[in-house]
Amino acid sequence: MAKTRVLVVEDEEAIATLLEYNLGKEDFDVIIVSEGEEALLKVEEAQPDIVILDWMLPTISGVEVCRRLRSNPETGNIPVIMLTARSEEADRIRGLEIGADDYLTKPFSPLELIARMRAVLRRIRPALVDSEVIHGDIRIDRSGHRVWRAEREVHLGPTEFRLLDHLIQHPGRVFSREQLLNAVWGSDVFVEVRTVDVHVGRLRKALRKAAEGDPIRTVRSAGYALDTA
Ligand code: CA
Repeated sequence: MAKTRVLVVEDEEAIATLLEYNLGKEDFDVIIVSEGEEALLKVEEAQPDIVILDWMLPTISGVEVCRRLRSNPETGNIPVIMLTARSEEADRIRGLEIGADDYLTKPFSPLELIARMRAVLRRIRPALVDSEVIHGDIRIDRSGHRVWRAEREVHLGPTEFRLLDHLIQHPGRVFSREQLLNAVWGSDVFVEVRTVDVHVGRLRKALRKAAEGDPIRTVRSAGYALDTA
C-alpha cells in the first residue's frame, strides 16, 4: 500500500520540523510548505491525502486556503485539519464553518495530531487505512489483491487494480490523465497519456462483466472519476 501523503502548511519552522520528524517516523510521506499560495499549488501538484493547515500564514491565511480547497471540485474532499494559535481562533473556526474536518489548538503534541489524522482519515477515507474497502457494489481486498462487484469476483491486471484502488480512495473526484499517470504509474516512468485510456477501458470492461452499469465517469476534456456510491 502506498504511504499516506500529508501536506503540512506551517510557517513556524520549529513546528514544521517537529511534524516532519514525527509524521515521518509514523511512515507518512510528509511535504512541508510555509505559505498559503504555495500550499494551493502543492495540493494540485502532489495530491496529498490530508492537509494540516496553520491558521496564520503569510500571503493568504489558512482559512482562505481551506475555503479555496473546498470550492474546487478537484480538492473539495481532501481532509483538512487546522492548527490554531489560540482557543479564540478555534472558536472562530467553529463559528465560520470553513469546512475543516478537525482543528487543534497550539501547543499540541504530535501524537495527538496523529491520532486526530487517523480518526479523520478513517471517517472520511476508510480506503486509506483499511485493507478491505467497499464502495457501492464494489469490494476490494487490498492485502489479497482481489476485487468483487455484486459479490462476483472481478479479475484485474496489476495496473487496473492500482487504478481502481486509487479511484476508490477519492470517490467523486475527477482525475486528469496526467494525475492518474503520476499516481498509478509514478512520475518517473515514461508512459503516454493515451495509455491511461487503455487501462481505464480494461477496468471498465472487467467491472461490467460482473454487474450492469459503469461506475467510472468520463469527464469530457478533464479526465475520469469513480461515481459516488
Ligand atoms: Ca503561523
